[in-house]
Amino acid sequence: MKVAIATKNRGKLEEFEELASGTPYEFIKIPDRIKDLPPETGKSFYENALIKAEFISKELGIPAIGDDSGLEVDALNGEPGIFSARYSESGTDIDNCKKLLQELAGFNEKQRTARFKCCLVGYFEGEIIKSFGSLEGNIATNFKGKNGFGYDPIFITRDGLHLAELDQKEKNHISHRSSAFKLLLENINRLFN
Ligand code: IMP
Repeated sequence: MKVAIATKNRGKLEEFEELASGTPYEFIKIPDRIKDLPPETGKSFYENALIKAEFISKELGIPAIGDDSGLEVDALNGEPGIFSARYSESGTDIDNCKKLLQELAGFNEKQRTARFKCCLVGYFEGEIIKSFGSLEGNIATNFKGKNGFGYDPIFITRDGLHLAELDQKEKNHISHRSSAFKLLLENINRLFN
């Protein structure tokens, strides 16, 4: 069965590619003719993931999976949350990270707790299947590591490494996206097999 991954985010796509290998589904990217996904007008990760999955499924006429994810920082009352991709004015990964480091200047290590959250929604022939995953850690005071995307260079895992120091396989072993993906597949298999 062909399933579209409803994202244009290159970092997410690379992670999905690795996660999808060995599953009975053929995961496909959004074709270039679809330039943009609809605006994220939802009030939660779930609502935004559903907007993406439903749109792409209806456009392509095949099932689709939408991902909405972000970083919740306790000292900032859960910000940037669903606005993680649009946190700084430019919205680039580097500026988003810099803004977060600035906001947290003056907060000590214990006050820098945070978590990545991911909601995946499968839109399968009108059926809505959802799953969630999270990854606990701390916001660093400096950038480290060359891998990953988004806030990975400033997110410290429970093992003390910055997420951007992990390679794809290592990140997929622990990430919010991979735990949500495993649960989603279990739910899909239960419904369709
Ligand atoms: P959206 O789900 O496309 O709205 O954007 C999610 C944003 O959250 C990304 O652009 C990143 O800034 C951040 N984010 C989500 N997942 C990750 C991750 O695994 N690593 C680093 N940043 C992430």
